[in-house]
Amino acid sequence: MILAGGGHAHLAVLADWARHEFPNTQRVLVTASRFTAYSGLLPAWMAGICRRQDLMIDLEPLARKAGTTLIIDRVCGLDADKRTLLLAGGLALEFDLLSLATGGEADLSALASLGPRVLAVKPVDDFMQGWAVLVAKVRAGACIRLAVVGGGAAGVEMALAAEVALRGIGSPVALIVPQGEFLKGHADGVRRRVLAEFARRGIALHHGHAVGAQDGLLLSDGISLPASHVIAATGSRAPSWLARSGLRTTDAGFVAVGADLRSVSHPNILAAGDIVERIDRLLPRSGVHAVKSGPVLAANLRAALADRPMRTYRPRERTLYLMATGERRAIGSWGKLAFGGRLAWWLKNWIDRRFIARQRPGGPPDALQ
Ligand SMILES: Cc1cc2nc3c(=O)[nH]c(=O)nc-3n(C[C@H](O)[C@H](O)[C@H](O)COP(=O)(O)OP(=O)(O)OC[C@H]3O[C@@H](n4cnc5c(N)ncnc54)[C@H](O)[C@@H]3O)c2cc1C
Repeated sequence: MILAGGGHAHLAVLADWARHEFPNTQRVLVTASRFTAYSGLLPAWMAGICRRQDLMIDLEPLARKAGTTLIIDRVCGLDADKRTLLLAGGLALEFDLLSLATGGEADLSALASLGPRVLAVKPVDDFMQGWAVLVAKVRAGACIRLAVVGGGAAGVEMALAAEVALRGIGSPVALIVPQGEFLKGHADGVRRRVLAEFARRGIALHHGHAVGAQDGLLLSDGISLPASHVIAATGSRAPSWLARSGLRTTDAGFVAVGADLRSVSHPNILAAGDIVERIDRLLPRSGVHAVKSGPVLAANLRAALADRPMRTYRPRERTLYLMATGERRAIGSWGKLAFGGRLAWWLKNWIDRRFIARQRPGGPPDALQ
């Protein structure tokens, strides 16, 4: 039984495996890095509110507790019919049961011409390294002009966090949002609060499709926006190796799964998180759904082993979303209700602390106490 990817969706599976016996079952976790970043705290790290080690989850002790062999390598191929997972290091792992949760890939197609001037939010390790180098350069006197591309919660949070990190040492931050994509799906009150925050803090908001240009970005309305560096929070696209896997995928190339998180073409392959699209309903790609589907995934892997009926992942009708503003305040929503301020930050901090504490037997990191 193989887990591919050690991120949000699989943490609950590792916890489940630590609690249950699996006679005659060899368990393996293949993941790109020993540490996985809790994305909810990435903007807080950028804004200097927490340290790198506060948001990194060490998979080695979790795998050990779960009686699972940890292989640090990248999945680069899958032959679903032959039940074989191919790793970049050359290994070919055969499986009876596979769970895929390697997340999505950053979609950089429109920004590729910018080369090293683009910081993609994924892989998170590379982003953190690139951001730390950039901030150090600015502190040493380098002049930069930063633009963030992406209209979802991640783009907004990163623009707000970057403004805090570069305040007084860098030039103003700009956020570029494709037309009609500004916090799409969020409550109107959330958009209003974010716009007020941008206005107060001098963050420029531009609407339009952005492509890389000589001096920065060229927007679809012909405006040229100077930028020395661009953070790409442009959303996830499906990993390219899925197309050759033999697995049924959706039009956008994601693994097509049913409500039980099982591949619609290969019942011995389950999948969750950013790599899937449900065939029965549309769900946004978010850490909330990745985390909440984890226990169902764990139960269904055990059900598949025992040939028992599967559970379905039923998302709640309303989800609580909390966006950090980088200044120990947050903007939140619950359905159509929007709110913000220090109390929202306290709630976000409490949720983040609780999540991280569950992954660490030693308790939450000091910075979040
Ligand atoms: C800046 C930012 C902020 C965000 N904030 C929030 C938030 O506040 N709330 C929210 O709900 N969502 C948030 N999200 C979205 C959330 O992070 C994702 O939806 C969630 O991480 C998806 O979980 P996952 O398990 O599918 O993938 P991930 O958590 O990304 O995990 C993927 C795992 O697979 C590994 N991996 C990747 N590729 C390979 C490969 N080829 N082979 C092997 N292993 C591989 C990775 O190392 C990682 O361990 C945010 C995203 C970003 C970028």
